[in-house]
Amino acid sequence: MDLQQAAALLHAARRVVVMTGAGVSAESGIPTFRDALNENGLAGHWARFKPQDLASPEAYWRDPETVWDWYAGRYRDVTAASPNAGHALIARLERRKLAQHGEGAFTLVTQNVDGLHLRAGSRPPLELHGNLTHGRCEACETVQPLPAPETFVPPPTCTRCGSRMRPNVVWFGEMLPQDVLEAAQLAFERADVALVIGTSSQVYPAAGLAGETLRRGGTVTEINPDETPFTPHASFSLRATAGVGLAALMGEQD
Ligand SMILES: [Zn+2]
Repeated sequence: MDLQQAAALLHAARRVVVMTGAGVSAESGIPTFRDALNENGLAGHWARFKPQDLASPEAYWRDPETVWDWYAGRYRDVTAASPNAGHALIARLERRKLAQHGEGAFTLVTQNVDGLHLRAGSRPPLELHGNLTHGRCEACETVQPLPAPETFVPPPTCTRCGSRMRPNVVWFGEMLPQDVLEAAQLAFERADVALVIGTSSQVYPAAGLAGETLRRGGTVTEINPDETPFTPHASFSLRATAGVGLAALMGEQD
């Protein structure tokens, strides 16, 4: 398959699912978790931590203050960042498909936890790994947005029951939210066209989900600057960043 065919299939598709990963947010200057550990200021304060030291239930129960310090910093980072051309094109594709083919014509699934899709005008995406701009009550499980970064002093408190809230993200060793995962699976099963953008496809379930579209006769286009383990299985692969690749695929000049 070539670009023209992939673009024509996307144009004609009645059901589209888009899966995004860290690469889509990288263009907004949001580093991956591992890069953030090393790039963060404070004289390399975080560099001595391993991801598991900050993003696991064990780490949180051991030292909630340090874990919240880390997430409060990341929350400030993503709030200061802006959605990029890739986010904007995904939102535009969504509006187009919904207008043409109605509810169910477009599903956005993301591995990102920064909330940038919503800020770019997308409907709330299926967030496989949660969202670090929200907290979740340790007692009653209510999910609430964190206070504005200027006024936020961690840990946040549940306004419903007064208990401490944890970051509303999926940590190492935790299950993905089952309802979100099931909705994503359904979208990939039903899709005529799936786009897998900016994800290394090394972590379950990204690769498995796209495989479901292929098994049912749909096509999967991958957009990624680098080759990934999924590349040999993709119907078509665009070696590009999200913004550039989507513009080419959607026939947009921006
Ligand atoms: Zn509560």
